[in-house]
Amino acid sequence: MTSPVWHPFTQHGLGAPIPTVVRTEGAALHTADGRRVVDAISSWWVTTHGHSHPRIMAAIAEQAATMDQIIFAGWTHEPAERLARDLVAIMPEELSHVFYSDSGSTAVEVALKMALGYWANIGAPRHRILMLEHSYHGDTIGTMSVGARGVFNRAYAPLLFDVGTVPFPEPDAHQATLDALDRLCGGPEPAAAFIVEPLVLGAGGMKLYPPALLAEMQRICAHHGVLFIADEVMTGWGRTGTLLACEQASIVPDILCLSKGLTGGAVPLAVTLATDAIFDAHLSDDRARMFFHSSSYTANPIACAAAVANLGIWRDEPVRARIADLGARQQARLDRIATHPAIRNPRRLGTIAAFEITQTAGADHEGYLSAIGPALMAHAGTHDVLLRPLGDTVYVMPPYCIGDADLDAVYGTVTSFLEGRRS
Ligand SMILES: *Cc1c(COP(=O)(O)O)cnc(C)c1O
Repeated sequence: MTSPVWHPFTQHGLGAPIPTVVRTEGAALHTADGRRVVDAISSWWVTTHGHSHPRIMAAIAEQAATMDQIIFAGWTHEPAERLARDLVAIMPEELSHVFYSDSGSTAVEVALKMALGYWANIGAPRHRILMLEHSYHGDTIGTMSVGARGVFNRAYAPLLFDVGTVPFPEPDAHQATLDALDRLCGGPEPAAAFIVEPLVLGAGGMKLYPPALLAEMQRICAHHGVLFIADEVMTGWGRTGTLLACEQASIVPDILCLSKGLTGGAVPLAVTLATDAIFDAHLSDDRARMFFHSSSYTANPIACAAAVANLGIWRDEPVRARIADLGARQQARLDRIATHPAIRNPRRLGTIAAFEITQTAGADHEGYLSAIGPALMAHAGTHDVLLRPLGDTVYVMPPYCIGDADLDAVYGTVTSFLEGRRS
């Protein structure tokens, strides 16, 4: 019998097998047919410390015993209050207000609405959003609008709103990026906000750019009074080597989006942090100026308890040392594999390693639909490794707890894939 489940980003017509996972632990997924699969992509970038961290799982169980969802408009609960306090204590001090939602996409939608709400409420309406070429901010209509256009959103293009696109800072063209941003910020229709993935564009192909450029982009936005939105949904929680990627550029955004690793990757939760200026623009005795956004599961107490436990792990365990160590272990393996002639542009930032694999002659798709992605994914699957390349871009982004043997297995599967290809 075929399953009624319709999976995300999955072409059911290709008939690829869909494994059933029954248990997760550390860097591994255990399947119903008894396999132990190394999760080399942290289950699409959510798992930070490791799967089923005992402290997070215990916090979930404990919270679930006393309270389920409650209305959050005009009501509150201790897990949300505690989490907000813990967050503002660990995040840049300018970001003093915490708005809850439940996914990266909603965190970004909230950020965009906060930005436009700010301009409307101070009586100087602005609507134009600026984005960086190749960006990804989610799959809802609003987040697709501020992200790269391509095969994955062509059918919805007429619904997507118009934005200003700043060219990606290719290594030899940094000034062109800065000039374009400067022009778009101050154009005839002044921009409301610039949204950016700091230091690494994830879904766009693990494209890196240096902290100095991020700092310069923030400076240009500040100069024009354009709000700076940092989407750290992927880069947050140590992925790039620091708690936030913005730290490496010594900048503080006006609005910050966090999700994925917020609960260590255990349950869905997101926050959008904002400065006093953004919050105060909505502060009034006029109900028409409140922030008009909610989702049914805002600040779910169980998810908040999981996030409080995550922050406890950051406080009590040597997470930063573990991240630095994983970075070094990734680099050593990347250096070895980089000598293969089919590997281009090996690069690493924090715990993320990435490279491109050159297509063999006669390949008929480029970019996201490149045949290398599914071929390597299938090959890795037969070796009990979960990899999911972005087209011909391969990346390794494991949970921080991954051991050397598992990491070797991940790189070994790439090597055996390259050796097995016909040239
Ligand atoms: C994953 C991601 C999102 C979307 O998060 P969801 O929880 O999948 O909605 C937004 N921005 C970035 C940078 C992401 O990597």
